[in-house]
This record gives sequence, structure tokens and C-alpha cells, in this order.
Amino acid sequence: MNLDVLAIGAHPDDVELCVGGTLAALVREGYRVGIVDCTRGEYGTRGSASLRLEEARRAQEILGVHRREFLDMPDSAVAPTEDAIIELVRVLRQYRPHVVLFPPPFERHPDHEAVHRIVRSAYFKSGLARLRTFGPDGTEQEPYRPARLYSYIQAYHHEADFFVDISQTFEQKLEAIRAYASQVYVPERYRSDEPETVLSRPDFLESVVARALLGKYDRCALRRRLPGSRAAWASFAQRALPVAATSPHGASPKSSAPAQRACWSPHPQ
Ligand SMILES: [Zn+2]
Repeated sequence: MNLDVLAIGAHPDDVELCVGGTLAALVREGYRVGIVDCTRGEYGTRGSASLRLEEARRAQEILGVHRREFLDMPDSAVAPTEDAIIELVRVLRQYRPHVVLFPPPFERHPDHEAVHRIVRSAYFKSGLARLRTFGPDGTEQEPYRPARLYSYIQAYHHEADFFVDISQTFEQKLEAIRAYASQVYVPERYRSDEPETVLSRPDFLESVVARALLGKYDRCALRRRLPGSRAAWASFAQRALPVAATSPHGASPKSSAPAQRACWSPHPQ
């Protein structure tokens, strides 16, 4: 199955937290969307790898995402090795996404930075005709390079190049985050005496909701800053994703969008 958009994260729940609303909106518009988690989160303070797998499948259902794959990179020890890069080359050649969403280059968790480097290298190498790889069924894969790479924004501050209006799918995003009951504060579904983390404290989810009071957006930064970021985001909808009709706000962002930032709503009006 070819995908229009592939979101890659280091740990199950990274993608939901950063671009869950965007993925749900794209699914509603008829795009084929996938998630790849590079690790299974087995080194997390709370829960277990098997529980996080169940939670991730539930979150996938909530967002309506078509495919989700878990790679076996070592949690908290992800490194941009040649093996890891080739593993991602295989993924890119298998799903042939137009757009890839991935972690930013400068991040609190070293795995996030490592996945950034792995994806960038895989993006380049995936297009090399003489680099031979084989798919899950053993057949040789064709070279392929996605049209666009965009970093979503995680813990550390990066200036966003564009915001995605997720007002129609914010509740879905929140529910997908709450699917990770072992990680965030959902006392009716998960109670334990494991140590608290930043995510598992009640105020984490409250902060997600509070920030949405000012506007419901997922934030993305480009892989590299391009002249004319509005045009760059318009190209996400119009060129990289040819199924889309037009980008209603690509050329003329709504006044409710943060000043000087591109804003695209995936919902035609
Ligand atoms: Zn993470």
C-alpha cells in the first residue's frame, strides 16, 4: 500500500502528541496515512512495551491511520547507524509517501535527534538507484525519494514555519493521546505506583487543553527554511498531495492564524 503521508517517531505516542490532529484531518480528507515508531518504548519509566503496543494500536484506530509499523531500534539508544538508515530506506521504498513528518534536529530526548538524522540520511539514500534493498516479500525495491520532509515540533522550541488548523480533529487528537493511559494521566484506566514523569502528571494533559484555548494547531518546521514558507505549505497540499483539491488558506492565511505564519486548514469550506 502506498501512502500519501508517513509520520515517523522515535517512541509510540510522539507522533500523536505532535501531529495527531494533522493526521486525523488528512485521513478525513481521504489521504492514506501511516505511522512508523522506531522503537517500542521499552525503556519508558511507566508501562511496558507490550502495553504501549496495545495503546498505540488503539490510538491508531482513533486517528483512523491506515498503517502503523514498529521497528526494533533500541529505546534510549537509537543511533544513526547504517543498519538503522537502511531499515528506514526500506520503509520509504515500501510505502512511497509524498510527505514525511519527522522529529526536529535539536531535541530534549537523544532518540528524537537520532531519528531526525536517520530519516534525513534515509531520505537521500532511498533515491540512490545502486543501493539495493528488498521488501518484506523478498522482491527488490525501486529507488524512491519523498517530495517533502517536514519536522514537527516536540519539547524544545523551534520557530514554526507553519501551523495546521486542527480545530475539527482536536478532540480526536486528545483521545489518541489519552489512549496511552500508562503514559499520561488517565486514572480511571491506569493506576500504578511507578514513578511519575512529565507526561503522567495531571497538569500535562491540562496544558495541552489550555494551549488549545488560544487556537488548535499542530506546529511544524521545515527541514530547512525555504524562502516563502506560505508557498512551501501550499505545496504540501497542492503538489506533494495531488489528491487534495486546493489549499483554502495556503495563499492567504486566516487572520486568526498567528501573525506572519502560514496556516492551512485541511478542511475545505
Ligand atoms: Zn519520544
